[in-house]
Amino acid sequence: MTRPTYVYDLAALATHAAAVRAALPDRVELLYAVKANPDPGMLRTLAATVDGFEAASRGELRHLAAVLPDRRVAAFAGPGKTDADLVAALAADVHRVHVESAAELHRLAALARAAGRTVEVLLRVNLPVATPGAVLVMGGRPSPFGMDPQEAVRLAADPPAGVRIRGVHAHLASGLDAASAAAVAREVTDWAVRQVRAEEVNVGGGMAVDYDRPERRFDWPGYGRLLGEVSDAHPTVRLRIEPGRAVAVYCGSYVTEVIDVKRSQGRWFVIVAGGTHHLRTPAAKGHSQPYAVVPRGGDGPRTDGGPVTVVGQLCTPKDVLAYATDGPAIAVGDVLVFAMAGAYAWNISHRDFLLHEPPEFRAGDPLAVAHDWGR
Ligand SMILES: *Cc1c(COP(=O)(O)O)cnc(C)c1O
Repeated sequence: MTRPTYVYDLAALATHAAAVRAALPDRVELLYAVKANPDPGMLRTLAATVDGFEAASRGELRHLAAVLPDRRVAAFAGPGKTDADLVAALAADVHRVHVESAAELHRLAALARAAGRTVEVLLRVNLPVATPGAVLVMGGRPSPFGMDPQEAVRLAADPPAGVRIRGVHAHLASGLDAASAAAVAREVTDWAVRQVRAEEVNVGGGMAVDYDRPERRFDWPGYGRLLGEVSDAHPTVRLRIEPGRAVAVYCGSYVTEVIDVKRSQGRWFVIVAGGTHHLRTPAAKGHSQPYAVVPRGGDGPRTDGGPVTVVGQLCTPKDVLAYATDGPAIAVGDVLVFAMAGAYAWNISHRDFLLHEPPEFRAGDPLAVAHDWGR
């Protein structure tokens, strides 16, 4: 039996990233948040299009150095940076360090002075802006991320030697549609210019992805137009965004095979090889992962097209990948292609739970892989 396989469609990723880039004004920089999916093939594919990569840990810095050795890392972010993390950022000569607190700024400044360097930083600020419709909210309320606005104003007015404060970083919410994301960008930029005379503003990622309606995609052209207006209002400011999920999610699939089909108290259960220890996204976010069925003509048990719960091989009722109220009949041996598994999927999964084998990874077209399954 073929192992469950992540299939990354790098051609689709290249096309999508190019469309995102083309939708943005030239003067707006596009970074990719590596934590969404650090797959080397994806990073190499994106390298042709994005202006840079945002690393959120020392591990991601190391990984970027290995995968893209000639590329300077654009941003180093994340709460709880240790001295070792900051030294690694200095050693890697990252373009901007995103500083999360006053204490972190002072530690970074001291390390920079000791190395005879001046580090260029953005202050991550937790601004009280409205984030309507957001799925995850990182700011605008008590938060471990970033610093209060008045703290940023104080630090910008009197920065320690060893750092140069270039501006502001804000990543306040995820799940924002184009209009809301642009409104947040507007508020952040207005504030940053007025309060800390920012030369650069990174307004973060968090562009909406709708797992229940995969065809509803973030409106990049609309967002690009609105960001253009923000940029026009602040022509001296370098604007930057750093999406992850909305760039990578559509270009990955998790392809696996049906092991068993059974009826339990009036409901069909479809049990596939693998499960949420490979693809934790639906369990983590509480959605049903969209999937397509590729029939393989087996003569084993099959559903009758009625409501199904698709589960994996873990001994926990939380190992649910998808629900469907109706759909095609599913038989033992059929292949399911779970879509939207290109971001926060394998890399957020509790891979050692039950010590099942890991999935395989391939580049290509997921439907072609499904059709060739087992051959
Ligand atoms: C995770 C993260 C991103 C990317 O968020 P997406 O929702 O994947 O677009 C960008 N910036 C920061 C600071 C993050 O923590």
